[in-house]
Order: sequence, then C-alpha cells, then structure tokens
Amino acid sequence: MKIVVTVKLVPDTNADKRIDPASKRLVRTGVETVLNPFDEYAIEAALQLKDKAGEGTTVTVVTMAPESGKEVVRKALAMGCDDAVLLSDDGLAGSDVWGTAYALAAAIKKSGFDLVVCGTQSTDAITGELPGALAEFLGVPGLTYVRKVELNGTTLAAERETDNGYLKVSCPLPALISVTKSIGEARYPSLKGIMGAKKKTIAPLTLADLALDAPVGSVGAKTEVLALAQPPAREKGKVVHVADGAEGARAIVDFLKEKKLI
Ligand SMILES: Cc1cc2nc3c(=O)[nH]c(=O)nc-3n(C[C@H](O)[C@H](O)[C@H](O)COP(=O)(O)OP(=O)(O)OC[C@H]3O[C@@H](n4cnc5c(N)ncnc54)[C@H](O)[C@@H]3O)c2cc1C
Repeated sequence: MKIVVTVKLVPDTNADKRIDPASKRLVRTGVETVLNPFDEYAIEAALQLKDKAGEGTTVTVVTMAPESGKEVVRKALAMGCDDAVLLSDDGLAGSDVWGTAYALAAAIKKSGFDLVVCGTQSTDAITGELPGALAEFLGVPGLTYVRKVELNGTTLAAERETDNGYLKVSCPLPALISVTKSIGEARYPSLKGIMGAKKKTIAPLTLADLALDAPVGSVGAKTEVLALAQPPAREKGKVVHVADGAEGARAIVDFLKEKKLI
C-alpha cells in the first residue's frame, strides 16, 4: 500500500504578511516558511493508517514548492513519513489552483499511489479547492473533510464532517481524502525521528520530468487576481446612557428597528 501525503509550505502564521501590489501575490521572500498546520493532520492520518497496516505500507510526502523548502519537508520525514518528492521549477511560479493540482497530479502519478491524503486548506491562499481538483486530475474518488478513516482491503471507509454531524461513506481504492483536525492530534517528531529524517530521500522533480500536455505557471493560470482590498475598518460601537433597564431595552429595540433587524 502506497500512501501519498500532500503538504504545502506556507509563511509562518505569526509572520507579517504583505501582498506585492504589482503582481498581486503574497510576498514569500524573507518570510519564514513552515509546514501548513492543517497538513500535520494529513500526515497524522497517513501515519495512523500505516501503523495499522504494518509491513509493506509506505508514506511519501509530495510538495510543490521552491527548492528552499527542503528543510521544512524534513519535519514531515521526522514525524515518520518514509520519503518525499519536491516538485520545484521556476516555470511553476504563478500557478493557480488549476495549475497546482495539474502539476501535483502528474508528480503523484509518477511516484504511484493507492491513497492520497491532503489537508483541508492552506493557511495562505485558503481556497480549500486543491483536494477536489487533485482527485479530478488523478481520476479517483475524492472524499473531503474526513474525520475518521479505515482501510479494509481495497475499500476505504470514512466519516465526513458536516455542519450537523457526519456522513458515513466508502469508496474503492485508489482514492483521495482531505482530513480535518478531528482525525487526532498530530504527533511530535521524536529525537530519533529528527536524526533519521536527515538520511531519508527527498527526490527532486522538475517540469522536464513531468512532460505535461498543458502550460502551468503564470502562463497556464486560468484565474486572475483582479484587485485586492482591505476590509473596511469596523465602526465604533454606540454607547447609550439610560436611566434604567426598561429605558435601555427600549433603546436597544429602537436601534434594531432602525437597522431593520427586527
Ligand atoms: C493567479 C494566481 C497566481 C498564483 N501564484 C502563486 C505563486 O506564484 N506561488 C504560490 O505559492 N502560490 C500562488 N498562488 C496560490 C496557489 O495557486 C495556491 O496556493 C495553490 O493553488 C493551492 O491552493 P490553496 O493554497 O488554496 O490550497 P487549499 O486548497 O486551501 O489546500 C488544501 C490542501 O491541498 C494541499 N496543497 C495545497 N497546495 C499544495 C502544494 N503547493 N503542494 C502540495 N500540496 C498542496 C495541502 O494538503 C493543503 O492542505 C496563485 C494563485 C493565483 C490565483
């Protein structure tokens, strides 16, 4: 059984983020990069499945990121993943979700897979669209927002979180899932894991290795960021001075009526 986990390298959550007004893209240079926190749950899910399946099951980390992201990938290896693939190429810069999913699908097909595990969303672009697009390009069933997963032979059984509860679903392998944090607390890398990660393989892949049929990067992007704006500043609250509770209640009712909320 070959499990692939997709991880994104994102700017540190606490870092000051800035958008370049000319390119309308997030400025990533000079900002510390970390493993997307949501992907730690994807790694945890994959490792739980590996722990249960035992011998013969491997977990490969796949990321599309700049070459400099190598050290961040090591964290996933230190947590217990077996090896990694780093898809990196200047021609990928400016890829939108379509291009990212298309290129990642080609990289994943090349390394082979039975199950792909994704996080639900990144902490920078936050579209949550990549898992669905990736499942489509891989031509496999995609189950999103999974909180519990089990493998029974060639069938995957999962619970999908919804607003009101959860759905029990199943599908044949190969398949793709995206997992929520309900899957379980992500494990910390042990000292042995950190030392062992230094010897694990991070295989480099470039666009030349993928021989894609369609352009990716900024030339292949199917979406365009037209404008960026800050949300309007929140208005100051209104303080009402009243003599007693009854007058206060009347003032609130009048205020809500004025706003057409009641
Ligand atoms: C016009 C345009 C240009 C852009 N140019 C750039 C650019 O130059 N550089 C850039 O970094 N971004 C760029 N982006 C953003 C980029 O398209 C998205 O970051 C990317 O498509 C993933 O979407 P997301 O972050 O919303 O992922 P989500 O759908 O929110 O993430 C869900 C899960 O998908 C997986 N995932 C997401 N991205 C990756 C990845 N790269 N590798 C492996 N797994 C992944 C992770 O498991 C993650 O938890 C651009 C976007 C647009 C619209």
